[in-house]
Amino acid sequence: MKLEQDIELRVREEDYINLNPLQSGGRTYPETRKAITSYVDGYSVCDWCSGALNCIRKPPIQSFLEDVASFLGMDSALLTNGCREAKYAVMHSLASSKDFVVVDGNAHYSTFVAAERAGLRVEQLDSTGEPEYLVDPEAFGDKIREIKKIHGKTPKLAVLTHVDGSYGNLVDAEKAASACHREGVPLLLNTAYSSGRMRVDGSRLGVDFIAASCHKSWAAGGGNIGLLAANGEWAEKVFRNSSDYEIKPLEILGCSTRGAAAVALLASYPKVKERVGKWGGEVDKARRLMAGLEELGVRQLGEKPTNHDLNFLQSDVLYEISQTHKKKNYYLYSELKKRGIIGIKPGLTRHFKISTYGKTEKQCDHILWAFRDIIEKHGP
Ligand SMILES: *Cc1c(COP(=O)(O)O)cnc(C)c1O
Repeated sequence: MKLEQDIELRVREEDYINLNPLQSGGRTYPETRKAITSYVDGYSVCDWCSGALNCIRKPPIQSFLEDVASFLGMDSALLTNGCREAKYAVMHSLASSKDFVVVDGNAHYSTFVAAERAGLRVEQLDSTGEPEYLVDPEAFGDKIREIKKIHGKTPKLAVLTHVDGSYGNLVDAEKAASACHREGVPLLLNTAYSSGRMRVDGSRLGVDFIAASCHKSWAAGGGNIGLLAANGEWAEKVFRNSSDYEIKPLEILGCSTRGAAAVALLASYPKVKERVGKWGGEVDKARRLMAGLEELGVRQLGEKPTNHDLNFLQSDVLYEISQTHKKKNYYLYSELKKRGIIGIKPGLTRHFKISTYGKTEKQCDHILWAFRDIIEKHGP
C-alpha cells in the first residue's frame, strides 16, 4: 500500500459549515496554522529546553502558564495531554486504591476511565433524566454524607462536569464547590466544554482544580493538549516534582504534550482570551436556532432555554423520513452535505448533537433553512 495516497486530503472547515461539537471550539485560526507549520517536527519546542516543559521560555511556555493560571483564576497551571490526563493526575495524587470519588450524573466517560486507572471507586449522582437531564449541584453534599455513612470513608475528590458533552447543560459550580467543601472534599471542575469558550474564574467559583481540553475548546487544533490548574496547597500536592529529577513535575511524567500542539495553544491564546467575552452572543445564536428547529418539530433535550452552543436534538420527523427514503438513515447526512453542512454522524436521524459555536448568524440561518428544506422536500 502507498500510505501517502491512502491518506485523503481532509476538507471540513474550508468548504462546509461543520456542526460537530467536538470540533467547533478547537478549530484553529489562520494565524495559528501559520505559527505551527515550523513546529511540526518532533520535540520542536525543546530547542531551548531549560530542564522541563513548564520552564521553557522560547517559545514562551513558562509565561503562558503563568498568564493562563490567572486567566482561569487559579494559582498555577501545567500543560497536559488533554483534559483526561489532567483528571487522572489529580485522582492519582489525591487518592489511593479503593478510595471514593464522587461525580455528577452527566460525567464524561474519561472521568470514569481516569478513576478506574487510578484504582478508585466511583459514586455517581443522578441527573433528572429525560427531557432536561439536570444535575443538582447541592446533591454532592448528600452523596458525600451517604458515602461517609455507608463506607466510613470521606471521598478524596469530587468531579463536576461544568458543561457536559451530551446535553450542553451548564451547572452552577459555585454551589457544587460549597457543598463539597462543607464536607471537606475538594472539587475538580471539568471545563472541557466551558473554559476557552466562556469565562471561567476558579477563584470566584471556589473550585480547587480546573481541567481543560484545549483541542476541544481553546482553538488549539488537532494535537492533543489540555491544562490542569490548581489552587493553594492542592497545587503543591499535585504539581510536586519527581524526587530523582527535581525539575520534572511527576504527574505529567516530567514533560507532557509538546510540539505543534503546545505552539498552537500559545498562538491561539490571545484570540481565546478575547472570544470568551463574546460568549453571550454564542448562546443567543444557539437559542435562536433551537427555537427555529422546535418549530419544525425537532426537539431540543437538555436544559431550556439552552445555555450552550452544544445541543442534543431528538427528531421524530427526520427519523420518519429515513423509513421511506432510498438512502435510508444515511439520507440526512447526504442531504445536509448537499447543502454545505457536515458534522452530524452519518446514519443518525433521530438523536444527534450539533454545535453553533463560531458560526455567523447567516450560517445559522442557512442551517435552519437546510433542515426546513429537507423536511419540506422529503417529509410527510
Ligand atoms: C471531550 C471531553 C473530555 C475529554 O477531553 P480530552 O481533552 O480529549 O481528554 C472530558 N470531559 C468532557 C465533558 C468532554 O466533553
